[in-house]
Amino acid sequence: MGGTFDPIHIGHLVAASEALNVFRLDRVLFVPTGQPWQKTSYSDAEDRFMMASLGAATHRAFAVSRIELDRKGPTFTADTMRTLKEFHGPNISLFFILGADAALRLGTWRKVEGLADSTELIAVTRPGFALGQIEPNDTWPRIHTMEMPGIEVSATDVRMRVRAGKPIDYLVPAAVVSYIQERGLYVEPAEAA
Ligand code: ATP
Ligand code: MG
Repeated sequence: MGGTFDPIHIGHLVAASEALNVFRLDRVLFVPTGQPWQKTSYSDAEDRFMMASLGAATHRAFAVSRIELDRKGPTFTADTMRTLKEFHGPNISLFFILGADAALRLGTWRKVEGLADSTELIAVTRPGFALGQIEPNDTWPRIHTMEMPGIEVSATDVRMRVRAGKPIDYLVPAAVVSYIQERGLYVEPAEAA
């Protein structure tokens, strides 16, 4: 599951846990993006990596990858999946988990040639976005949809709640709440990167 994870929250974690079960996955790898080319402002990569790690530490089948953080330049999922396939060998099955909002924007992805050959997509419920509209097509013949309890939380909401002095308990893992407080994240609007 790729994302900005600014911060990781219950929506990401429920999606990961449900996909693990429904698709009998061995592991869910959270892959924080280095330079999210579709976003203009985001927190420091190391903070996002730390928060993803703290969130992933709540489940033994969850892990975090630095693959996109340690690579220069903009982040393209196709490059990441190719690298993962090379690393793990030809027998690995790779899935990319994404919310219905992201799945409906697949047409905006760049450099997707070959991605659909190596990767199956798992599009999951995201309140406000039509999961039912997502179907296999010529570009993405292997796209699954997975319903899960709708979690109406976004990282944007979490950041806004922190700025407004509202609690974020239970929306993000307890260790992430502490990390955000200790680092003083989201009190000021993020600098444009
Ligand atoms: P932001 O508000 O900053 O865009 P976000 O909450 O959308 O943050 P991202 O890091 O952009 O989180 O999302 C990473 C992936 O997780 C995307 O595929 C997104 O669709 C999915 N996702 C995020 N929140 C949810 C949620 N509440 N339910 C299901 N999927 C989600
Ligand atoms: Mg988002």
